[in-house]
Amino acid sequence: HAKHLGGNTLQFFTERLRASSLESLQLENQLRKALDEGQLELFYQPRLCLANDRLEAAEALVRWRHPQQGLIGPAQFIPLAEATGLIIPLGEFVLRQACAQARRWQQQGLAELRISVNLSVKQLRQGNLVSLVRQVLEETGLPPGLLELELTESQMLDDIENAIDTCRLLRALGVSLAIDDFGTGYSSLSYLKRFPVDYVKIDKSFIAELEQSGEDAAIIRAIIAMAHNLELKVVAEGVETQGQMDFLKAHGCDEIQGYLLSPPVEPERFVEMLT
Ligand code: C2E
Ligand code: MG
Ligand code: MG
Ligand code: MG
Repeated sequence: HAKHLGGNTLQFFTERLRASSLESLQLENQLRKALDEGQLELFYQPRLCLANDRLEAAEALVRWRHPQQGLIGPAQFIPLAEATGLIIPLGEFVLRQACAQARRWQQQGLAELRISVNLSVKQLRQGNLVSLVRQVLEETGLPPGLLELELTESQMLDDIENAIDTCRLLRALGVSLAIDDFGTGYSSLSYLKRFPVDYVKIDKSFIAELEQSGEDAAIIRAIIAMAHNLELKVVAEGVETQGQMDFLKAHGCDEIQGYLLSPPVEPERFVEMLT
């Protein structure tokens, strides 16, 4: 339809396209450099076990400390990393770093924390994920029971049989698995029983309006009941208010994560929180 919009429109679009692919090429090169030069780091966000009021787990979340632009969140570079294949070395860095950190905390006697690491579908589909995880556990000395891997539902649905096989092999290592952003995919209920996982993380969009929306509250109750019937544990993410926490506790949710406890923080600050 560009033709109807006047003479320069097509040229405008072409330039925009060129500019944006140039931008993403520059970003790609910068990200590659960031990985090599150690500009990526992990922040940690605690998860509270509601049954005993203890911090038993933490999620590792990647950040890019850009020399000019400051701290950049994963939403701004993970999609590009996935599109370019950089997610493979990036994901490996995150896994190794998170396991090493959890092991140090364990050795320092600070905490026996389970560390959870987000995986991309690209990593799941890579043939050597299972051997990479085994290798990183050996290298760092982290007991497999202290590692949890988070996958999203939509990622698993892409190639279900392969995803199920990989999940089985990972669990055979002693690692636990979680379905992240649960409830945002398509086939939550029918596929849940087929995935060999340990945790379901209710997406934060359901938690946000839980106190205003009877529907969201009902969905959360249903997810908790269903997960428990399937012998899965439930984590609520994005918990920001005491009211949300009270509701989740009253309805048997196992763990919470969110700004109410703490945002993701640097390892040094995380240690302060523990001690
Ligand atoms: P996620 O795995 O669902 O992580 C939870 C996100 O919610 C984090 O955003 C966290 O900072 C944010 N959050 C935590 N508590 C609250 C809260 O109370 N309220 C609200 N509104 N938000 C909260 P973050 O760190 O920006 O990460 C965004 C997403 O990027 C993650 O979503 C995850 O899918 C992805 N990601 C992060 N690190 C990695 C990584 O190392 N590898 C891969 N593949 N993906 C990653
Ligand atoms: Mg996650
Ligand atoms: Mg996620
Ligand atoms: Mg999530």
